[in-house]
Amino acid sequence: MIDTHAHILSFDDKEDVIGSMKEDGLDVIVNIGTTLEDSKLGVELANENENVYTTVGIYPELVYNITDDDLNKLEELAKSKKVVAIGEIGLDYHAENFDKDKQIEIFVKQLEIADRLGLPFCVHCRNAVDDVYQTLLNNKHLINHSGLMHCYSEGKDWFRKFLDLGLYISFSGNITFKKNDRSFLKDIDLNKLLVETDSPYLSPEPFRGRVNRPKNVRYVIEKIASEIGLSFDELEKITTENAKRFYFKIR
Ligand SMILES: [Zn+2]
Repeated sequence: MIDTHAHILSFDDKEDVIGSMKEDGLDVIVNIGTTLEDSKLGVELANENENVYTTVGIYPELVYNITDDDLNKLEELAKSKKVVAIGEIGLDYHAENFDKDKQIEIFVKQLEIADRLGLPFCVHCRNAVDDVYQTLLNNKHLINHSGLMHCYSEGKDWFRKFLDLGLYISFSGNITFKKNDRSFLKDIDLNKLLVETDSPYLSPEPFRGRVNRPKNVRYVIEKIASEIGLSFDELEKITTENAKRFYFKIR
């Protein structure tokens, strides 16, 4: 299995998370950057651990003090051999005093970095689906190496639009929650489907409320597989192939 989105640096016991990968059935974990500082640490972590890769990027709620100089540093960092994507980037309007213009500006500048370096990107979208879609549509010329909608939670009316932009759709533990609609999963293009944990956040059923771990990606695969009528092994194979195609620098 591959966990395509985990915040390894947020674990108190990250050595344990990485050390137990083999017994947990994990081939690869992709660590996710959210600031310039943790992106640097993510690159170090990936360089020290063969089966850990990383993204670098500035999370939408953390963009307000970001300068062009910071973005230049991020771009340099993104040239490291184990950086597999730019992310997580996007828009998040859930906090009270969000600055939409600044968020969009930095989102687009990071899409430009991904395009210049020939890397895919990972999109975080919260309470902002209209603007995320519109920003991507307006910058379609920058989507040459694909992108993904991480922790997809926009329901059935939106996924086709994102797929039509050439993006992948990634599900985390949220797809296992009892209240969430899963009926549209059967309509998703299987070759555009990715799985992730977003750990240590967002534990899947049956572990809701507890610290999430990369190995719980198993429950995401299980839930989707049962919903669309595939076996666990069949879907595990498909999502692993998809992850390696998307994050093409994974060996
Ligand atoms: Zn995340």
